[in-house]
Amino acid sequence: MELLRPDSAEAAAAALGNGSVALAGGTELVPLLRDGIVRAEKLVELRDVVPRGVDGTRIGAGTTLAELEVDPDIPQALREACSLAASPQLRSMSTLGGNLLQATRCWYWRLNFPCYLHGGDTCHAKAGQHREHAIFGNERCASAHPSDPAAALLALGARLRTTSREFSLVDLYRLPTDEERNVTALEPGEVILELDVPRPEASVYLKAMERRKWSFAIVGVAAARFADSIRLGLAGVAPIPWALSSVADLEQATPLLGTAYKVQIARALVRRAVEAVSAPAGA
Ligand SMILES: Cc1cc2nc3c(=O)[nH]c(=O)nc-3n(C[C@H](O)[C@H](O)[C@H](O)COP(=O)(O)OP(=O)(O)OC[C@H]3O[C@@H](n4cnc5c(N)ncnc54)[C@H](O)[C@@H]3O)c2cc1C
Ligand code: SF4
Repeated sequence: MELLRPDSAEAAAAALGNGSVALAGGTELVPLLRDGIVRAEKLVELRDVVPRGVDGTRIGAGTTLAELEVDPDIPQALREACSLAASPQLRSMSTLGGNLLQATRCWYWRLNFPCYLHGGDTCHAKAGQHREHAIFGNERCASAHPSDPAAALLALGARLRTTSREFSLVDLYRLPTDEERNVTALEPGEVILELDVPRPEASVYLKAMERRKWSFAIVGVAAARFADSIRLGLAGVAPIPWALSSVADLEQATPLLGTAYKVQIARALVRRAVEAVSAPAGA
């Protein structure tokens, strides 16, 4: 396999596609290459060409989760989401851009079962083991999106700038369909450069997990208050980061037999998150 080191983001984008894949921290990509789930002839290294660091409301996609978890200038929800993700070693390698594009943790998918998301016509998890799977958007694929930062950025109303366009984070994700199984809408030759993350009056990220550290979200809930409105973004509940407008939306959940418990957890976390960001009475 060849490693390309382009000298600009545009050159990196031009080198992608046709068997070439972007490499940032490699914490997600390298295991997928090793297991034969992703195939690549060339890796295009992004480290020197994608912005890194925080400048006002702009965050470079090459910034690591470890850098973000200690940055006092970013919204609390994003800081907390980064600090609760993975392990310190992984966070020191993991970039924000790579985190948003990480694949599902569904074990059937990772074991290369020919499931719906891999292009087949069956969701093996629905009939099999699915305790960690979805309670929303699970008609075809019941996977649960693993990114904590994506849930925070959804609640914060973040926008992305890539080598070819600017768009809302909400439009980065889509539920898989018969025509398109990929849950992200990035074009093959497109590199995420930076994010614009509005500053809320208050924000928080709460995460229920199997262990207190180094565990993916069973349910993650981000809440952000802008003036009188509170926005919610959830991790671990649908194949993509999932927006709710209030706790009442949880009545629309479509849990599987093994994921019904997540609705109760989501209800408790959403209530707690909303309370945490609500303006004090009389303020
Ligand atoms: C054991 C383990 C536990 C974890 N726990 C959590 C957790 O609790 N919460 C959580 O949120 N995450 C968790 N993660 C995921 C981890 O945060 C991601 O692996 C990491 O953020 C990916 O970033 P990276 O820079 O290493 O990406 P890479 O592995 O380099 O790339 C990932 C994907 O993104 C693409 N890519 C990367 N950057 C760009 C860019 N700028 N533009 C276009 N494409 C790009 C790559 O081509 C690849 O497809 C865990 C991972 C592991 C291995
Ligand atoms: S949940 Fe999605 S990724 Fe997992 S087996 Fe079903 S279709 Fe495949």
